[in-house]
Amino acid sequence: MIRLKTSAQIQAMREAGKITGEALLLAGEHVKAGVSTKYLDDIVRHHIEKRGAKPSFLGYGGFPGSACISINEEVIHGIPDANRILQDGDIVKIDVGAFFRGYHGDSANTFYVGNVAPDTKRLVEATKESFYRGLEMVNANYRLGDVGAAIEGHVTQFGYTVVREFVGHGVGSELHEDPNVPNYGVPGHGFRLRPGMTIAIEPMVCAGSAKVRVLSNKWTVVTVDGSMAAHYEHTVALTEDGPILLTKVD
Ligand code: MG
Ligand code: MG
Repeated sequence: MIRLKTSAQIQAMREAGKITGEALLLAGEHVKAGVSTKYLDDIVRHHIEKRGAKPSFLGYGGFPGSACISINEEVIHGIPDANRILQDGDIVKIDVGAFFRGYHGDSANTFYVGNVAPDTKRLVEATKESFYRGLEMVNANYRLGDVGAAIEGHVTQFGYTVVREFVGHGVGSELHEDPNVPNYGVPGHGFRLRPGMTIAIEPMVCAGSAKVRVLSNKWTVVTVDGSMAAHYEHTVALTEDGPILLTKVD
């Protein structure tokens, strides 16, 4: 069941979204060679707690971190680890959620560690751009299939692929609500977008095959072929006046 939000509820979600966006931005500013993924996780947790919120991911399904931090061929759900040290040339995906006054925010970005190869940067830029192509479809004239088709259509022109086993989702008083928001789709199909919908749009894009598997730690999702993967996510509210990016602070 899709839980439509009132404008007052969307207003409340702006606060959770802002804290989420701030924590992600702050963690991104600390990305550099030599720091551990646990260090970045601590920055996220401290900021969220300082703002009187709770990290949405901490303890979610038993997840041990406040952020999911995934390097290179790791797509999503990387576990923060004091022994995982960022190296020059890596890309690191940081995914953050904050719960504040009854609502969650959810946002992710991919950051460069030092000197990143040009073809990897192209993957990251295409992934971010695909989010905005999907966002163009977020109005009451379109359906979720239009959003997914726009995302997939943008990245496939570069030979990239979208992950199919993991998708975006509704966000609200629960971190994951209906509907699923796939990064693929058939134009004109799927749920019609309606004002009051609050969804996380989150393209997960691979440089090679879209095949992924979960590591033996039961969390980290990696590309089977070892190719690089990028991730970009915002929580988006559709209002009568159009979409609002609840987690965008920069
Ligand atoms: Mg997320
Ligand atoms: Mg999400």
